[in-house]
Amino acid sequence: MDQSSIDGLRAHPVAERFHLIEGKHVPASDGGQMDVLSPIDGQVLTRMARGTVQDMQAAIASARAAFEDRRWAGQPPAARKKVLLKWADLIEAHALELAVLGVRDNGTEIAMALKAEPGSAAGTIRYYAEALDKIYGEIAPTPGDVLGLIHKEPVGVVGAIVPWNFPLMIGAWKLGPALAMGNSVVLKPAETASLSLMRMLDLALEAGLPPGVLNAVTGEGAVVGEAMGLSMDVDVLVFTGSGATGRRLMEYAARSNMKRVYLELGGKSPNIIFADAPDLHEAAKVAATGIFRNAGQVCVAGSRLLVEASIHDDFVADVARISEGMRVGDPLSLETAIGAINSEAQLKQNLGFVDTALAEGGEIVTGGQRILEETGGYFMAPTIVTGVRPDATLAQKEVFGPVLGVTAFDGDAEAVRIANSTVYGLAGAVWTSNLSRAHRMVRNVRTGVMHVNTYGGSDATVPLGGVGQSGNGHDKSLHALEKYINLKTAWIKL
Ligand code: NAD
Repeated sequence: MDQSSIDGLRAHPVAERFHLIEGKHVPASDGGQMDVLSPIDGQVLTRMARGTVQDMQAAIASARAAFEDRRWAGQPPAARKKVLLKWADLIEAHALELAVLGVRDNGTEIAMALKAEPGSAAGTIRYYAEALDKIYGEIAPTPGDVLGLIHKEPVGVVGAIVPWNFPLMIGAWKLGPALAMGNSVVLKPAETASLSLMRMLDLALEAGLPPGVLNAVTGEGAVVGEAMGLSMDVDVLVFTGSGATGRRLMEYAARSNMKRVYLELGGKSPNIIFADAPDLHEAAKVAATGIFRNAGQVCVAGSRLLVEASIHDDFVADVARISEGMRVGDPLSLETAIGAINSEAQLKQNLGFVDTALAEGGEIVTGGQRILEETGGYFMAPTIVTGVRPDATLAQKEVFGPVLGVTAFDGDAEAVRIANSTVYGLAGAVWTSNLSRAHRMVRNVRTGVMHVNTYGGSDATVPLGGVGQSGNGHDKSLHALEKYINLKTAWIKL
């Protein structure tokens, strides 16, 4: 991908965005709109529909009707597969357009967005398209005079609520398996990253997905997201976002129809460096990218660096040197290593965490401040704080920004104790040449994903999900399909 094609797209005016209901772009029922600000320069990029409760109800009604008349669920698996494969192809064909639009909206550095957004979304949709005609029911080992069949049925209407950091990738994690299993879906994109995802949905219609099977309502979580959560007609709610919102969704479910709720939440993932790591400089490089890519706005970010005391000072100095060499700035430049913070509110929150860390005894090694303010955009220097006590705010609370807290440890037992001392359990890593130690750490650190001598790699074939307050259920892999099916037993007397 060359810079000139990116620059060609960056100045394009962005059309206003409306909801997608019953295959049509429709404005909010009260005509309401909201400004979409670009984090690159703080300017208005376009406007989009500010959804109402009625809009969400209309989208859910459309999805319900589509499910009941089986216009999608009733198609032969091979036909559904064909549509989803075509959708994946269209996403790839529009990859640059989608990535640039997304970056203008959410600020992720373009090199990463190109890889992690349309590329990964197309791969995910294709993975589930290819899986859908390989999912069978079961015959249970019942006594001989009965036949026990276990059918796998779609659940009905799936409500999906997604965050702003990787809208296409995370959107596809929900849409791929939900649609593959024959469900209808209503999507609620994040306020500050709706544009590329809404555009990706247009491509689903172009691929032949029947109208009404996939609807989307833009606007405020507290209005349209709440209406989805409280709906009596949504069967399953799948969510990626913050713990505070996840908690609300469980309440909404309890107050309405007790819909199933699957949550992918935040993390405070430990990246554990032992002195016997195979290559300490490589570990330092990956520690820096493991927290600072997408300006730390990554759920699995290695935001706690646990370093064996004997190598602490040298290792931290190396990570600091590498971080200072990472270019922060224009997210649409292929040279940029760290893009923008998604919103001004998020930037202020990040800086507040730095203040608190200092007040609680931490020391800044590098960064700590807003930069490039003259651009009007929201940028922050990659920040490293040492001397972070395991119970300090910076060690306990998710920042979701470019702030790395460093804590020294002595020996395996202390590393595990500190690693497990938060309410989260999403990701983590251990760096060591000792095979037994690596396996012990994988077993003992309470988390959904544990990396060994690397950080952050993944693909569609392995599940992603947390333990503790990082959530429940899994995205990705065949395991994700479980969220989108009901098991039905047929007990047949022979
Ligand atoms: P958020 O919870 O503020 O928003 C997520 C979504 O929820 C948005 O679409 C928002 O509009 C909606 N929402 C907000 N209030 C709502 C309400 N009352 N009812 C229903 N919906 C509501 O989270 P965010 O700030 O967009 O995303 C950052 C969080 O997401 C971080 O905690 C991050 O770790 C987490 N995350 C987790 C994963 C994962 O796979 N575990 C991946 C990416 C991000």
